[in-house]
Amino acid sequence: MQKEQDKPLKGCAVEGRNVAPVGCRCPECGYEVEMFSDELNTTCPKCGKDVTMKVCALESS
Ligand SMILES: [Zn+2]
Repeated sequence: MQKEQDKPLKGCAVEGRNVAPVGCRCPECGYEVEMFSDELNTTCPKCGKDVTMKVCALESS
């Protein structure tokens, strides 16, 4: 069995992702869409409109 722990975890972005769920309001229908902070866009499950992180940032500021 190999000692995985001995390997430096540089560049490993899979575990311990530093992401946080962000609540975004759909610009089209106002539905609150949850997306993660490492996503650039998602789709509103209600109306199908693209909800981008840009919209999110505008919303939260
Ligand atoms: Zn919507």
